[in-house]
Formats: sequence, C-alpha cells, structure tokens
Amino acid sequence: MYNRYFYLAYMKYNSTFVFVHGIHFPTRINQYKLHNMKLGKYSFGVGDRFNHEGQAQLKALIKANAQGVEVTPVWNKSNREHNIVHSEPEGTRIEADEAVRTLGWEGPYCVDADHINLTNVDRFIEHSDFFTLDVAIYIGNESPESDVTAFKKSCEVFGNEVSIPGIAEPIVITDVLLESVAGKYLAAVKEASKIYTHIVGVKGVGNFVTEVSMDEVEEPQTPVDMFFIMKMIADEKIPAQTIAPKFTGRFNKGVDYVGDVEQFTKEFEQDVLVIDYAVKEFGLPEDLKMSVHSGSDKFTIYPIMAEIIKKYDKGLHVKTAGTTWLEEVIGLAISGDEGLVVAKEIYTSALSRKEELCAPYADVININDDQLPTAEEVAGWSGEKFGNTLRHIPGHPDYNSNFRQLIHVGYKVAAEMEEKYTGLLKKYADVVGGCVEENIYDRHLKRLFNL
Ligand SMILES: [Zn+2]
Repeated sequence: MYNRYFYLAYMKYNSTFVFVHGIHFPTRINQYKLHNMKLGKYSFGVGDRFNHEGQAQLKALIKANAQGVEVTPVWNKSNREHNIVHSEPEGTRIEADEAVRTLGWEGPYCVDADHINLTNVDRFIEHSDFFTLDVAIYIGNESPESDVTAFKKSCEVFGNEVSIPGIAEPIVITDVLLESVAGKYLAAVKEASKIYTHIVGVKGVGNFVTEVSMDEVEEPQTPVDMFFIMKMIADEKIPAQTIAPKFTGRFNKGVDYVGDVEQFTKEFEQDVLVIDYAVKEFGLPEDLKMSVHSGSDKFTIYPIMAEIIKKYDKGLHVKTAGTTWLEEVIGLAISGDEGLVVAKEIYTSALSRKEELCAPYADVININDDQLPTAEEVAGWSGEKFGNTLRHIPGHPDYNSNFRQLIHVGYKVAAEMEEKYTGLLKKYADVVGGCVEENIYDRHLKRLFNL
C-alpha cells in the first residue's frame, strides 16, 4: 500500500492523514523516527538550584541503572529559577557535563531549558538540548477565525465519534466541543509551534528534545482535552517527545499530592491511552510520553503512575526541582554548627519575607501560617530536629509540610548569601551530597520504578 508515490505524497504533505481517492489511511510511518534525539523510555529531571549536586544526583541514577532500570538523567532549570538565583543556563550545562565526565556515565543525558517561551529562550539555546515549551499563559487566547475553521475541517476525519482503545466512553465530536477545545488550546499550540520553529532555526532538526507544557494553570486538562491538544501538536508538526498536562489535584511545591487520588488515577491512565492513540494515528514521535511536573515529592501518586506505565508498557518523564535544594538545607543543618546556623538563618529570613518569596509560586504553594514554627522556636532546635522537620518522610512526627514549602521557595535567601551559602555546600559536600543522593534514589526512584 505504501508505494513510493504514496510515500512521497505523504512526505510532501506530511499530514496526519493522507487522502487517496477519498479513503483515509492513518499514517503509521513515523515522520520523526529517523531524526529524534534519544531520551529513553524512562527519564528523570533533577533540578538543581545552585549547580553543586550534579554528581550526587547522577550517583542516584547510576544506582537505579545498576538495578536494571535505565533512567536518563535530565538537568532541568527554569528561567524563573535562573532569574531568582542570578545564574545562567551555561552553569547547568557545565554541571551536567562535569558530573557525567567525572562519574563516567555513558548513557544519554539532557539539559532542559525548563518552562521557556519566545521571550527568554535565547539564553538557553546554546546550552540546552531539551526544551520545555511553556504555553500555559496562551490557553484561552482567541485564535484567528481561519485557524479555527482549519482545525475544525481537519477534525472531519474523525466522523461523529472516536473510540480510543481501553477507554470505554467514545469522544463524541460535536461542533460545540471543537469550538470549545479550539478556544482553549489552539492559540497555545500555535505558540508552541512558534517557539519550536525558533529553536530549530538555531539548533537544527532532531538535535534536541521537545516538551510541550501546560501544567502551570488552575484548570486541569481532561483526557479529551489531551486528545485534541495532541491533534493540534501533530498538525503543527511539533515533534513532541514529552507532554506535561495539568492533572487534577494540587501539585504544591516540595510536598505530597493533594487531591482526589481515584480521579487522578483514572485521568492518568486515560491520558496514557490517548498518547498511545496519538502516536499511532497522528504520527507523533514513537517515544512520546507523559511528563509529570511533580513540583517534587508526589509520593502518593508515584506508585500509581508506576503501575499504569507498567500495565501499558509506556515511558515516563518525571521532573523535580526543589527537592535537591531542600536536601542541601537538611545536609547543612545536620552537618555541624556552622551549617545549622545558616539553615536557621534561611528559615528566619524566609519567614519574614514569606509573601515576596511565595508570590512567583502562587498557584503551587499552600502554606498554613498557623503551622509555621516561630523564629525563636527554630533558634532552639538541634540539627537533627531541623532535619527531621524538613525531610520529607510522611508520617514522621517531626515532619512539617508548611515548614518545608516555605524553605522550598526560600532559595532566593540562600542565593543572596552567595559565597556564605555555596562555600558551605563545598565544605560539607559529603554530607550534603549523601542527603541528595539518598533522597533521589530512596524516596523518588525506588517509588517510581519499583526498585
Ligand atoms: Zn512545570
């Protein structure tokens, strides 16, 4: 069936479906197969605010690999973090390359320009090979009438309904539904296309991993939304390898998932099935997989995700950020007097500047002020008490998620300390690195990959 003429016609139009005498053939030739950067089935984003823990993080991933689960390390850092810390994307690249060289890592690894857009991507382009196109703020923007009409026309191939294998309820295609999804997501996906095209113009096709993210919004995207988002991404020919939707529930920074676990489970499973369908029917990259921007430490849903990806034999990318920074503070607190003084200083200062520090994270932070210890109280704590209050061990009598969230956003305070902070990271590198490695391996990778 796929003769040379047909294939050329396909290549020329490079479209989702090819019409030959009115019959449509879902394209099973994957247009991205030949030129995609390898991310691997499983990958894990290790954010690192201060670029000191690359080796400790990689050691945790090496441990997972030694257990037989290949997980690709990705060093992600957002534009927001760079601005707050006053760092540059080159630092993340240097950190990743050095860790890889020092530890002799021979597998793939990436440096992720996390949550970028057209206004800030340029500083990342040279140093990154993974780009998270954040188009959340474009959701709900109006599209030109011609774009909406073209989208609706392109959906005619679906007929009246689409059945996705594994999902009981078919998607019933109506004009109202198409108008609604176009109104929500079309402008956002078009924006993703602009950013992608800009990056390709500099780096060339196939030289980086593309993620499309819409996670930092209040309203979650349903599996039906995901279906149409995938369709739009395919129409725009964005070779997305990961996609980060907003799931139901709260993904607060540094703490566990808060929300309807049953609903999350259902959504996550359906999203996985929708992605599988989109890969097969829309011709999206074969390795396209879900990216979960965990905000770190969503321990409750880790085993749920693990079970679902195992059930369908699918890949997964999980992105963390501040969990490593929190381990640095724990490491300093338990390493000795000097470190403990600085850890306490960070908390005390963060407490007095709470509003300012929480502002950039308004949607993803939820601190109960009554549960925050006073500066005086904390002044009397031992390193062990400080560490136990901050360390994320659910059920530990000292663990305080409010304390943890405040320190999570408090990295600006440490950034302002400059050498005073980073000097201690170097001085106590063994203890701090041990905390970082243990956290990533024991609390994250073990739960995610059933190790
Ligand atoms: Zn995110």
